[in-house]
Amino acid sequence: MNDRRALLRRLPSVDSLLAHSAIQELIKLHSRDLVVEAIRAQLDEARRSILGSAQVDICEDALMQGIEDILSRRQKPTLSPVINATGVIIHTNLGRALLSKSAQAALLAAAGAYNTLEFDLETGKRGSRLVHAGRILRDLTGAEDALVVNNNASALILILSALAKGREVIISRGQLVEIGGGFRIPAIMRESGAELVEVGTTNRTRISDYEAALTENSAMLLRVHSSNFKQVGFVEQPTLYDLTALARDRGLLAVDDLGSGSLIDTAQFGLDHEPTVQESVAAGVDLVCFSGDKLLGGPQAGIIVGRSDALAKLKRHPLARALRVDKLTYAALIATLEHYRRDEALEEVPVWRMISRSLEDIRETAESWAAQVGGLVVSGESTVGGGSLPGTSLPTALLAIERDSPDRALEQLRGADPPVVARIAAGRVLLDPRTVLPEQETDLLAALQSQV
Ligand SMILES: *Cc1c(COP(=O)(O)O)cnc(C)c1O
Repeated sequence: MNDRRALLRRLPSVDSLLAHSAIQELIKLHSRDLVVEAIRAQLDEARRSILGSAQVDICEDALMQGIEDILSRRQKPTLSPVINATGVIIHTNLGRALLSKSAQAALLAAAGAYNTLEFDLETGKRGSRLVHAGRILRDLTGAEDALVVNNNASALILILSALAKGREVIISRGQLVEIGGGFRIPAIMRESGAELVEVGTTNRTRISDYEAALTENSAMLLRVHSSNFKQVGFVEQPTLYDLTALARDRGLLAVDDLGSGSLIDTAQFGLDHEPTVQESVAAGVDLVCFSGDKLLGGPQAGIIVGRSDALAKLKRHPLARALRVDKLTYAALIATLEHYRRDEALEEVPVWRMISRSLEDIRETAESWAAQVGGLVVSGESTVGGGSLPGTSLPTALLAIERDSPDRALEQLRGADPPVVARIAAGRVLLDPRTVLPEQETDLLAALQSQV
């Protein structure tokens, strides 16, 4: 104990460290307050380790290094690129969809030059930003008109606020979805001032249930796609056609929250069929809303397509101004949509390139990784993620690596530059080539190599 007291006494004071020339240099780079905070944190840690073990001798060099490390950790940006080796294609925590090369270029062009965001070149007068994605969305979906807002949750809030405030919205009990991050459809509806009327049971809702719930004050029939869970067994939901027919018959609106909103049939890749936007439009619903950064593979956005009279009311609502998107979103979204028009989405949109990548191609990559850094190639599954296609997966080939402590290995990979995010199964670290970009492979392999 006496040893420890002696060691504690030998620790320099904050003031004496502040006088040090190396610390003076750090103050120039950061700020006095931040440096003092870092010195205190480092001295606290030194005290803790002295009390924990009599053997520690804390030299000044080690203290200095510790203070510098604390400061550089604090300066690290909280938003930075990572390598996604999880095999989850639309990984919400890792930023959902990656943009195509031409969407990236469009974004850069819009960022660095003045543009026609709200300017009509023909008249030389003020234009409307709402026109931009309108034409191509109409062409691709068959809808009469379109509107782009901040994300799909805000699309839903806008639709409910503008068209059902103080009135009843009928929804099936089987569709009261929590969309992730703790956000639930009923809470969103309450916020918009619409009154939620739940009908049917968790597993079965019939069109007669909707019919029986209608009152003078009903405004809308809402379908919410069960995008992140799957019901099997004794289940029933009315078709969109039946829902639309009932709405039309009673002078109500039919609205479809598709969630992911694919423009391409996912069944061709052995996945479940995710309802497409075109199908909902063809079924005759008044409005369809979906995300820009799920299966569409574009920037974060909420896209609303449908009947022009309903959309005109949305565009006039004050919330439309609050939820509007900026030039960067329009630029990236339109460039993404162009890939669908040119029928090249499978090759150009990263989400679809990853979904459609062949197992042989993935296996070849996994084998080349194994040849360079060791490990075994095993069969596994990639998932689409992002609240789409729950319970279905794509067969993949994984690099499986044995480590004494897989948790520790995962932590080390997250500490690499750039960080690598992988997963563990059956005590092994697993890396899925499907979501790793070709230009990231060298860094990924270097991170794995530096572990052994
Ligand atoms: C993902 C999802 C949302 C929310 O979309 P964001 O673009 O993330 O706001 C809403 N409804 C459903 C059914 C969804 O799947």
